[in-house]
Formats: sequence, C-alpha cells, structure tokens
Amino acid sequence: MGTGLLPRSTADHVGLADAVTAHTYAPLPVVVAEAEGAWVTDVEGRRYLDCLAGYSALNFGHRHPTLLAAAREQLARVTLTSRAFGNDRLGPFCRDLAALAGMDAVVPMNTGAEAVETAIKVARRWGYRVRGVPDGRARIVVAEGNFHGRTTTIVGFSTDPVARDGFGPFTPGFDVVPFGDAAALRAALTPDTVAVLIEPVQGEAGVVVPPPGYLAAVREACTAAGVLLVADEIQSGLGRTGTTFACELEGVVPDVYVLGKALGGGILPVSAVVARADVLDVLTPGSHGSTFGGNPLGAAVGHAVVRLLETGEYQARARRLGERLAARLQPLVGRGLRAVRTRGLWAGVDLDPALMSGRAACERLAARGVLTKETHGATLRLAPPLVIEDDDLDWAVDQLAAVLAGA
Ligand SMILES: *Cc1c(COP(=O)(O)O)cnc(C)c1O
Repeated sequence: MGTGLLPRSTADHVGLADAVTAHTYAPLPVVVAEAEGAWVTDVEGRRYLDCLAGYSALNFGHRHPTLLAAAREQLARVTLTSRAFGNDRLGPFCRDLAALAGMDAVVPMNTGAEAVETAIKVARRWGYRVRGVPDGRARIVVAEGNFHGRTTTIVGFSTDPVARDGFGPFTPGFDVVPFGDAAALRAALTPDTVAVLIEPVQGEAGVVVPPPGYLAAVREACTAAGVLLVADEIQSGLGRTGTTFACELEGVVPDVYVLGKALGGGILPVSAVVARADVLDVLTPGSHGSTFGGNPLGAAVGHAVVRLLETGEYQARARRLGERLAARLQPLVGRGLRAVRTRGLWAGVDLDPALMSGRAACERLAARGVLTKETHGATLRLAPPLVIEDDDLDWAVDQLAAVLAGA
C-alpha cells in the first residue's frame, strides 16, 4: 500500500489499521464507511444493524437530522473559542442541560473520563472545604465491576486486572465495595468519605442491574453520612433506560450527575458534570478547566441533544422497544442463553459458555448483519440506537436466536 493510497477491501483496511494503530482494541473485521439511523454500511457495501450504538454514544442513531443540522449551522458560525472568552452557545446549553437534570450548574468537558475526573476533583474539594475533612484524607467509595474510564486515577480503582495491570502506581483514596450490597456500602463510609461514585446500572460489566431498592438505600446512606452521591450516567443516562436518567427508575436524585457519550449526539465528544451550584461552587478560576470543554460546536450539538430529550419521545420509545426486546429475549434463556438483564432498550445477555464464546457469537452475528460487542467473555450487550424500527429490532433478535441454534 503506497503512501496516500486508500485501501479498498475489508482485508486491506483491517491490515492497515492493525499495522499502524496500537493494539488497544481487537475489533471485529467490519470496516464501516457510511451510516444512517440504526444502520451502517461497510467498505464493500454490506449493511449491518448497529446494536452497540457506540456504547450508547449513538442513542439518537447515526447522523440524526436535527443534530446534524445543529452541527452544520454551528460550523458556519464559530467552532472554538476556548474558555478565555465567552461564546454564545455555552450559556443556553448549560442552562437547559442543568434544567433537564433538575440541577443548576454544569462543568462542560469532552470525554467521559474527563468528566469523571472532574467529579472526583469536585468531591474532594467539597469534602475539604464544605465537609471539613482534614486535608489530604478524602476518600471515595466505588463499586466492584465499575467502569468509569481509562485515566490512571480511574483505572487505579478498577477491579478489572486487564484495565490496571502495568499502569501503577495509582492514586490513593478509593475504597471498593461489592455492587448491589447496601450494607457493605454503609460499612465503608468513614468520617473521611466525601463521595460515593457509582453507575446506577453497570454498563461495561454487562448491563448489571442492582437489586431493587439498592440505589435508594445508597442515597439514604449518603444523605445520612453527609457525603455526595455521584451517579456516573455516561452510559446509562440520556434515554437509554426509558427515563432520562437511570437513577429515576428507583426514584433517586444524586448530588452529582456525570454525563457523556450520547450528550455529543454521536458527532463529537461532549461530557459534563451537572450538579447543584453549591457543590460546583468549590471550583474557582484556574482550579480546573479544559481547552475544548464548552466549545461552541459541542455546546450547539449538546443543546440539540437536550432538546430531543426534553420532549420525552426518546425515553418513551426506549421503554416501549425495551419491553419488546425483553419479551423476545426471555424465551432464549435455556436455549443458549443463561440469563438476560434489561433496562429500557439495553440488554446484557449471558451466553451459555459451553455453547460459544462472546467473541464467536459476535462474529456469527456480524456475518448475519448484526453488530454488537462482547464484554467479559460470555456476555453480549445489546444497545441499539433508540431510533431503531420495531421490525429491525425483531430481526436482530431473530439473528441471535439463529446463532444460538447453531444456524
Ligand atoms: C464510556 C464510559 C466512561 C468513559 O467515557 P469515555 O468518553 O470513553 O472517556 C465512563 N463511565 C461510564 C459509565 C462509561 O460507560
């Protein structure tokens, strides 16, 4: 392949990418060239139904017309200012995002991991300045099986050895408790604890749904101990579970939301920490920031995402389609599936490991035109865009059934 030439075939693209990118992923051999809605087309013209949706970054589907229009309009005006100056997109975006979350202030960032890091900094400073925790002693409680991103601090409190090995030394100050065990969480709260950082539904762990009442018990424990409940809704939030936030499913209001993925509309990275002003007020000029955070292009797209969610239409769609998905997956338990967990249009599907690996299932699904990705060996995550058509969703489950039946 000569410099500047574009490869054509899937094999050439796979070979080139493999040769020139670090091996941080082991992608399926599908090379996407175009996409619309819930469907993508590869370099050889084959079409696939996207049942991963960019790990829920594509909740509104590929190239949603409203979001593209917002991006195009903004491209024609101004795209980046830095926060050294104001821009006319930032205020309206943050006002409406805060209102959507029932909060009153926002720290705009870019990637999810950055927003999690921001929340950690906020929680620590809040602990010292508001709670009076002695300097340098703040602790944050996190859950086993968590996924909050890939920075050195964040992987330091991961319980996944693959994510951690070889990257230490790690940031101290985190206590890990089993996910779903409220008593263990209560027992881990000390006078130095400033926050509990938790995913209301653990995404990367395989759409792990905690027992009923768990989140409410965590909320109560945080309130009683005077610590912040920080909900990482980067994957669970913004419509996926049938509500704007997964916390709503248990009637829980956290002190801090961490948002990302779908907030950028599948167009660019937009993340945010959304909380009460009295919490975010601990941040002062110079103490935190981001060159790209709050940029006018990201704010325009993020604002358009907020407007889509304000109607409730996508949340309702996720509820309705989610019931359909659950009803169609449940009969497969005992027929190749060990267990199925769903929350809205989001399913974790445990394969019978004796039947095939998650990877093998994904390869066979891809051959049948359905894209998804395994997690932790034998679990598949089904998270199609919320715009998927009923028939397409049924068809995807039919393909899974056929793969399980060995067809
Ligand atoms: C994806 C994810 C992150 C990290 O987001 P990036 O944009 O990849 O940095 C953090 N928390 C959760 C729950 C996620 O699913």
